[in-house]
Amino acid sequence: MSLSAIQSRLLAACKAADRAPSSLTLIAVSKVQPLDRVRAVLSEGHRIFGENYVQEAAAKWPDLRAEFGPVQLHMIGPLQTNKAKVAVELFDVIHTLDRPSLATKLASLAQQRGASPDLFIQINTGEEPQKAGVLPVDADAFIAEARRFELPVKGLMCIPPEDEDSTPHFAALASLATRNGLPGLSMGMSSDFEAAIMAGATHIRVGSAIFGARSYA
Ligand SMILES: *Cc1c(COP(=O)(O)O)cnc(C)c1O
Repeated sequence: MSLSAIQSRLLAACKAADRAPSSLTLIAVSKVQPLDRVRAVLSEGHRIFGENYVQEAAAKWPDLRAEFGPVQLHMIGPLQTNKAKVAVELFDVIHTLDRPSLATKLASLAQQRGASPDLFIQINTGEEPQKAGVLPVDADAFIAEARRFELPVKGLMCIPPEDEDSTPHFAALASLATRNGLPGLSMGMSSDFEAAIMAGATHIRVGSAIFGARSYA
């Protein structure tokens, strides 16, 4: 696969879903990818990337931004509270707000800085014990709490269980978002982004289908 192949599939899926391609943001997930692959995608003109680890992103993106110009960076991995300060300076959007202590921290950083990245609240739609995210039953209360903090919550994010059909999870996330008046839906990865587009995703997070398999050597 490649960026252009994914873009064509994205356009076809938008067409099938009767959606404007401009309603969808393609986040190229570059975590753990060799720098030459990331540079290749930058050279093709793509400027929206996702990372999972604050340290890795902080080591990589300041130089790449200096070289290629503005890049919109999305944090899509679990965020430790003690990395929040670095994260808000590096990332334009954080997709993994998942607990009250992090909301408190992000609100205090927003106060200090007079600015905050846009935020998505991660929902554990599969109710998997090992996975991050707010449980669906707690979602309405947590969204309300984040709003009381005046945080710029733009939408919801989910990572469906690996061994299940993603579609019911996408539908559940979409209905939670609608119920709470949130426009953003961060859902869909390499294996299921077309289904996510059908279900109303506004942000798809595609890694290996663009860059090739990750090697965690
Ligand atoms: C790694 C990752 C992705 C990209 O996964 P692919 O299957 O390589 O597309 C998307 N979202 C999250 C949260 C991830 O951690």
